[in-house]
This record gives sequence, C-alpha cells and structure tokens, in this order.
Amino acid sequence: MRKNIVAGNWKMNTNLKEAKKLVKGVRKGIKKLELDSTRVIIAPPFVNLPTAIKRAKKSKVEVAAQNMHQATSGAFTGEVSGEMLKGIGVQTVILGHSERRAYFGEKDAVLKEKVDSALTQELEVIFCFGEELKDRQADKHFKVVEDQLKKALFHLEANSYKNIILAYEPVWAIGTGETASPEQAQEIHAHVRTLLAKKYDEELAESVSILYGGSVKPANAKELFANKDVDGGLIGGAALKAEDFIAIIKSI
Ligand code: 13P
Repeated sequence: MRKNIVAGNWKMNTNLKEAKKLVKGVRKGIKKLELDSTRVIIAPPFVNLPTAIKRAKKSKVEVAAQNMHQATSGAFTGEVSGEMLKGIGVQTVILGHSERRAYFGEKDAVLKEKVDSALTQELEVIFCFGEELKDRQADKHFKVVEDQLKKALFHLEANSYKNIILAYEPVWAIGTGETASPEQAQEIHAHVRTLLAKKYDEELAESVSILYGGSVKPANAKELFANKDVDGGLIGGAALKAEDFIAIIKSI
C-alpha cells in the first residue's frame, strides 16, 4: 500500500530563528495525530537543514532538501551535492520544482542527471512536474506532463521507484491562490498512473505516491486529498505556518 505524504516546501523562507520555531510547531502539532499511514516531510533551506534535522529527531517529522547538484563534488561554486546532504542526515530531496526549471534553467536532461545522482546516493526523490498555463490553455497538459516524466524518469529500472515520490504541481496554481480543481488534479494523477503502468506495470503504478501541489490550504486540502489517486500534497505558502500545515495534515 502506498503511503500518504504531506510535505512542506519552505522555499527561500525562514531564518534560523523562524526555522526552529516552525519545526517545533510542526513537531508539537503532529504529536497526538495517528500517522500510521501518513508521512510528514519538511524541506527547509540548505542552511537550516542541520538544525531542522536535530530538532526533528525522535519525531515523525522527516527533513528533505529542496535541490542538489548532480555532481558529487567539484568546482561548482554555490552548489550542494547529494553526498553532502546524505552526510548530514538528509534522506529525501525535491527535484524538478517549477521554480528551479523557470528561474535556474533546469531542463529535463539535467533533472535526469540529478535523479540518477540522488538515487546513487540512496536519497529518496520528490520529483516535481506540471504544465504551465499556456500548455493547459492549448490543451497540451497531458502531453507536457508525459514528456517531463519520460525525459527525466523513464530510463529508470522499476526497482528505483521505491525511492521516487511524484508531485504534480501545475505552474499556474503555484503561489497564485488558484488551485487545480479536485477533478483536474485527479485526472492528471490517473494519467500518470496509466503512463507508469504502460511503461512498467500495474503494480508499480499503484505503488508510487503522487502528491498534488499548488495553493493547497486548510480550506481545500480535504477535497483534493479525497481523490483516489491523490496521495497527499506538496505545500508551499501554507507550510510556513505550523497551524495551517497541521490542519492540512489532518485533512488526509
Ligand atoms: P504554494 O502552496 O505556495 O502554491 O506552493 C506550492 C509549491 O510550489 C510547493 O512546492
């Protein structure tokens, strides 16, 4: 059975003090929840990872990084490798976020390298994909999503997928307040499962958790998560307030 997952992508937010407070709030908030089939992940900025890991210890809160470089080490000023992340106790890394694609020029080919590098380091990957508004308006969203997955993931062996979480994040819904409707999310998630079943098999397709991301809030989380193929969310803005993040976790 695949797990439900609620992950908070803090993006470039939280100074040290704020990060400490937020980890504490999340930790406290989930203490009394029954989380047997749900994972809770937070992804603070790089500099706050060690503190977050320390403060999340002996709790159900897992800590992920937001990005990594594909090389293990070398002359790549300003970059951080998977090996370095692994070395400080990070288990999971977000790759392919639309902000990395749009503002830092990360194309499918480099994302493929990053995925390979992360898996080699035995890091779990939360792989983000999703269409832009112009793609949806041109009715190309199914095709765009398919291309993104094929180019960065479909070279993988089936057994690699035990370390892959997928996150559908339509670009037009990120930070805009405009959420995909539960139907729009469900139809893409179902499409992704069909693609996985075609490329690999039904069992693999059913085993991969697919999260939805894009303006998820306490007010809309329940109806999004109620869909059969939506296994949780990747939360941006609402993950910065412990109270909202906990309310979203409770919706699952
Ligand atoms: P928002 O929840 O702020 O729309 O961000 C979603 C996101 O990009 C998570 O990775």
